[in-house]
Amino acid sequence: MNICIVGTGYVGLVAAACLSEMGNDVTCIDINPDVVDLLNSGKIHIFEPGLESLVSRNAAEGRLTFSTDLAEGMKDALFVFSCVGTPSRPDGSCDLSYVDEVAAQIGQIIEDYKIIINKSTVPVGTADRVKEIIESKLKERGKHVEFDVVSNPEFLKEGDAVNDFMKPDRVIVGTDNVRTAKLLETLYAPFARSRDKMIVMGVRSAEMTKYAANCMLATKISFMNEVANMCETVGADVREVRAGIGSDRRIGYHFIYPGVGYGGSCFPKDVRALIDTAKAYGCMSSLVEAVDSVNNRQKRMLADKIIRFFEEQGGVAGKTLALWGLAFKANTDDIRESAALDVIQVLTDAGMTVKAYDPVAGDNAARKLEGNELVAVLESQYGPVEGADALAVITDWNQFRNPDFTRIKKILKTPVVFDGRNLYSRSFMKDMGFSYISIGRQPVI
Ligand code: NAD
Repeated sequence: MNICIVGTGYVGLVAAACLSEMGNDVTCIDINPDVVDLLNSGKIHIFEPGLESLVSRNAAEGRLTFSTDLAEGMKDALFVFSCVGTPSRPDGSCDLSYVDEVAAQIGQIIEDYKIIINKSTVPVGTADRVKEIIESKLKERGKHVEFDVVSNPEFLKEGDAVNDFMKPDRVIVGTDNVRTAKLLETLYAPFARSRDKMIVMGVRSAEMTKYAANCMLATKISFMNEVANMCETVGADVREVRAGIGSDRRIGYHFIYPGVGYGGSCFPKDVRALIDTAKAYGCMSSLVEAVDSVNNRQKRMLADKIIRFFEEQGGVAGKTLALWGLAFKANTDDIRESAALDVIQVLTDAGMTVKAYDPVAGDNAARKLEGNELVAVLESQYGPVEGADALAVITDWNQFRNPDFTRIKKILKTPVVFDGRNLYSRSFMKDMGFSYISIGRQPVI
């Protein structure tokens, strides 16, 4: 099949690589010429395990091409996927300007029947909005062209995106058109071989499903963070509580790890966007609002603990923190809404110097933090620890799970570790002679 994918970010590039891997001809369009040049040179601009080899193999075999020219990409395509960003506006609503722009461009170019697929996460009603934009552009051109607009939200996770696309838990297709649904079933058949993985529903239900899924997952995280904070006060250990509740199959172990709060390019903005949708339609959203506010509090929780710890020693001003992990989670270079950025902001505002390290997100973070003279991003894991007053772990990269604590103790000025991911055993840290402060557990002082 011939496919055009608009937007070559985490979603668009993964979808393009996986669809071409199945033998389809895919043209990827991006407005950023630097990204297109890089992709044409066989390299990729994001870190995603397994993606570069998939892209280069399919590009070399001629099934995957990159361009800035949407007309060229759409010429022979039956399916046009819109995978552009849908960031938050300052008021929390979803910024649909990229989606609108793509719709307008399609309306200016479309010559024959296409299935336009909204893969971006977009509020309920966006498929209708895209349809109207395309129709208005066609009207301006004095043309009538048949097309369908489908909602096909994406559920991949950064860090495991190729795997998730190749073996999805489900493929949601929102359309009322039976023929279009059948064509999408054919397109997705190699990925969703078991028939019940393909769930066809109304367009608005599909749009809502994506928000409901992300908000449910965010709710689990905020719930567990709130329980963790209570555990600290009442003298319980959240690791034990998690084991106790996760064993109930109705609850399960997934997504109930306490930590530094959720970040990334999806959960925070999607939670805010659902609150905004509820407001626009006059619905209640008290639970989702609470999820958002618990998370905002949690993202600065570790920084508050660090400030409190150093209060008795004259405060954090002038002290240095070694910080491990800048990405919002392991296995990605994505720093969008990462808790590390909040922690750094709170601490440097209080006068602390932060020396940070991340295995792949260092460059992205250094660009973002440029201008903050109290922050340095270093290239080695143990570099920031040398002479620092404490170490804080923010991201759960595997290489932070079992570090050389003998070396850490030797090179830290004082043996203090703040753990935002509960990676270490309290008794081990105690035996090693560290002060150890984590989440939802009693501190080792
Ligand atoms: P991204 O910011 O990584 O990529 C978007 C790309 O679109 C950029 O390369 C940008 O240059 C390009 N673009 C913008 N306007 C364009 C235009 N007019 N024509 C061509 N290209 C254009 O975004 P992403 O993380 O891939 O997310 C895309 C969408 O998918 C969002 O709605 C997001 O919420 C959703 N989503 C993301 C994830 C994820 O893990 N990142 C998972 C599921 C769903």
